[in-house]
Amino acid sequence: MLGFTLSEEQLAIQKLAREFTEKEIKPVAIKFEKDEEGELAEGVFKKLAEVGILGLPIPKEYGGSDGSNVECSVVLEELAAGCGGISTAIGASWFGQTPIMMAATTEQRQRWLPPLTKDGNLCCMAMTEPAGGSDIENPHMHSKTIRTIVRTDGDDYVVNGTKIWPSNSTNSCLYTVVATVKPELGDEGSCIIIIPDGTPGLSFGKPIKKMGMDADSNSEIFFDNVKLPKENLLGKVGDGAKLLQRTLIYNRAGAGAIATGIARGAFELALKYAKERITTGKPLIQHEIISALFADMATEIDAARLLYLRAAWFNAQRGLANMAWSTMAKVYASDIAMRVTTNAVQVMGSYGYSREVGVEKYMRDAKIMQIYIGANELIRQVIGETL
Ligand SMILES: Cc1cc2nc3c(=O)[nH]c(=O)nc-3n(C[C@H](O)[C@H](O)[C@H](O)COP(=O)(O)OP(=O)(O)OC[C@H]3O[C@@H](n4cnc5c(N)ncnc54)[C@H](O)[C@@H]3O)c2cc1C
Repeated sequence: MLGFTLSEEQLAIQKLAREFTEKEIKPVAIKFEKDEEGELAEGVFKKLAEVGILGLPIPKEYGGSDGSNVECSVVLEELAAGCGGISTAIGASWFGQTPIMMAATTEQRQRWLPPLTKDGNLCCMAMTEPAGGSDIENPHMHSKTIRTIVRTDGDDYVVNGTKIWPSNSTNSCLYTVVATVKPELGDEGSCIIIIPDGTPGLSFGKPIKKMGMDADSNSEIFFDNVKLPKENLLGKVGDGAKLLQRTLIYNRAGAGAIATGIARGAFELALKYAKERITTGKPLIQHEIISALFADMATEIDAARLLYLRAAWFNAQRGLANMAWSTMAKVYASDIAMRVTTNAVQVMGSYGYSREVGVEKYMRDAKIMQIYIGANELIRQVIGETL
């Protein structure tokens, strides 16, 4: 039986996230750009923990709310309708937690998951490296381009290497690090290791100034002889590639939701303007060409939402997670986010171009959606190969 509505519980979570966005995110969204120390964003993350959103995907027994890929995606859309950077930081924290939820032992879960539900504590998925992000995500490269190396030292592991760009780079309490014991081994040598903040040898570059997504902190991450107990490995050596690909499935649906939210945020501002602005004696929206533009934008946003919801719903069923559908959601939603936000700026004229009105921020945030968690060129191939 097909159903096209969210359950009452899901609607309640959506309402909570929508109200939070209206009250706590929208009023400060254009201020994140000047929030160089990240204090404003940190305040929002803390409040998200207080209302129970931060720990949404974490099982109840570890202090979370047991949210599935559907609830998480719905929440990411709501947050992104206010600010793509906040939604990206939260989505990326959940991205970093996914391998832990999939592969950690009970003891590892007890240690790492509860802190991620409180105090605005974030997780970082450290995958991209200076020599390239796409090749690490590309299953055809078989993990051979990873240069973050894990070696055995008695009862410990020692990690060396550099990552760049991960969301929450400088402000996480836990780093989920994609690594290898030996690049030449390919997937057989791949692994994912957890590094808590404060571990000696872990350090960071300065936050990188970006075109948008200012509430998200991105920098280099350096691992200089970072010594860790063997219990910090997820699964075993050789599990890294499989875990990463499975992790990408859930979080590409989430990226589709973030892109949908960015598009919707810009659309809502532009629609309000088009109903109020009078040109040639009538509201802008009553001009046929503008009305048709809004019709297309509304259709694209709904289509993007349906794609991410389909992916997230299947991902939430045991054994039915679907890489192609999650990837379709990410590709389509990010492309329409770029188009919708550009059109929103256009119909708002010079007000659209103003840094004070806030609609151009959605356009700047939208651009990276076509690049991160799989550049659209690369992941179109991922979809193509399944046809
Ligand atoms: C705000 C933000 C948040 C991010 N969050 C994270 C995070 O949480 N964790 C993390 O690890 N990284 C993160 N990243 C990094 C991001 O995922 C990578 O930058 C992205 O995967 C692309 O890698 P790259 O920049 O090295 O580009 P490259 O891999 O060098 O690719 C450059 C371009 O080449 C093209 N291309 C690449 N491969 C192919 C191919 N096979 N076929 C055709 N064209 C191709 C695409 O157009 C691509 O954009 C983030 C980046 C930003 C800016």
